[in-house]
Amino acid sequence: MSLSFNSLFGEQDISINCPVCKEIIELKLNQVDSEVECPNCKNKFKVKFKEGFSASKAAVDDALKGFEKALGGFDEK
Ligand SMILES: [Zn+2]
Repeated sequence: MSLSFNSLFGEQDISINCPVCKEIIELKLNQVDSEVECPNCKNKFKVKFKEGFSASKAAVDDALKGFEKALGGFDEK
């Protein structure tokens, strides 16, 4: 198993408002940054993270990579 932001938090539920009809749409976090279709008005639009989110996500991925490396290297004494 590989630890990553998406593997840990990708299934997190989030809700956004459709930019056209303002209907509340339920999404998974890993659907952000891809195109989604509003179930109400069928408008397709791309969901974007807020500014700063990508940097946080990258930092989490970096930290997890280090953590995974640490997990693979136990000292047996
Ligand atoms: Zn809509």
